[in-house]
Amino acid sequence: MKTNLLNYDLPALTGHFAQMGEKPFRAKQVMRWIHQGGAENFDEMSDLAKTLRAKLNEQAEVGVPALMTAQQSRDGTRKWLLDVGTGNGVETVFIPEAERGTLCISSQVGCALECTFCSTGRQGFNRNLSTAEIIGQLWWANKALGVTPKNERVISNVVMMGMGEPLANYDNVVSALSIMLDDHGYGLSRRRVTVSTSGMVPQMDRLKEDMPVALAVSLHASNDKVRDEIVPLNKKYPLKTLMEACRRYLAKAPRDFVTFEYVMLDGVNDHAAHARELVELVKDTPCKFNLIPFNPFPHSGYERSSNKNIHVFKEILMEAGLVTTVRKTRGDDIDAACGQLAGQVRDKTRRQQKWQEIIAAG
Ligand code: SAH
Ligand code: SF4
Repeated sequence: MKTNLLNYDLPALTGHFAQMGEKPFRAKQVMRWIHQGGAENFDEMSDLAKTLRAKLNEQAEVGVPALMTAQQSRDGTRKWLLDVGTGNGVETVFIPEAERGTLCISSQVGCALECTFCSTGRQGFNRNLSTAEIIGQLWWANKALGVTPKNERVISNVVMMGMGEPLANYDNVVSALSIMLDDHGYGLSRRRVTVSTSGMVPQMDRLKEDMPVALAVSLHASNDKVRDEIVPLNKKYPLKTLMEACRRYLAKAPRDFVTFEYVMLDGVNDHAAHARELVELVKDTPCKFNLIPFNPFPHSGYERSSNKNIHVFKEILMEAGLVTTVRKTRGDDIDAACGQLAGQVRDKTRRQQKWQEIIAAG
């Protein structure tokens, strides 16, 4: 079987080339061809020696996931569905804004963590994505979007907020992050790459040492009682433990705050009293808040908080000095809004098993 070079970050690619008897700079060249040039085939790589190209053709491939569909929303949001085999698909979403272009990437097929308000969580878990399948999302989007007339990349930011829990697929996500940040890869700044986690504390501690990028934490509740119910992982890592982990992360983070995501669920976590409780909870943790109006999906059993409640909630946080934004709902006409990414998940039976593994590993 051919080696898929899309699975390798620069250190791994350099190691692979060394085994082939090739110099390290060849790895840099090939990396640039693949990720900056969008090359899929070695014959395009015109500055490689013919003999090396022949060897690569024989032994290796640039195995990019196949594109199933590409869609564009009325508001300019774009969505790609990529084939990751055996009937599974994963979704990637691009959100253009005046000052930046953000790509939202998936890390797993489904998710084992079963947050009750999340469509991905309700779908169940199938498997982790490989590094190639994670970075392949950026590869496709970058190829489709290219550069601006000023030769700047259209994709300036990446957020790991698509399907799946990135820190439950730790090694493959870290390799993909390494390619995103590498000057021979996508050259993104650490500040502009964000990992979003529902609060996997041991892996947050590892990430701060291995690949400290910007951190978003899906908080969604101001006390353990509510959080236990809507983010079941909270039973393993309750709020106090999670807050301590956030503060440890900040010591190494490229930004001096954590972004707390907070989905606004009518009657569940959106009372004024919850907002006041939040202020108290985060008082020692430098942070910003991003309130996400709940995006409905069939049979969710939840409703979005009213605009009035969201406004009151935001005002309480702001008055306490916490920078708070309300996320605009983008791309909902193509089911590309937060929590609506469902892809196609087959074989949901593995969810329980995976959840047990996560608990055991923690
Ligand atoms: N698993 C990671 C990242 C993916 S989810 C995490 O949970 O952080 C990205 C964000 O969308 C998370 O904050 C998640 O809680 C939120 N989300 C999930 N379902 C949603 C929904 N139906 N409406 C609005 N936001 C949702
Ligand atoms: Fe998984 Fe995040 Fe959805 Fe929770 S919110 S089920 S962790 S993808």
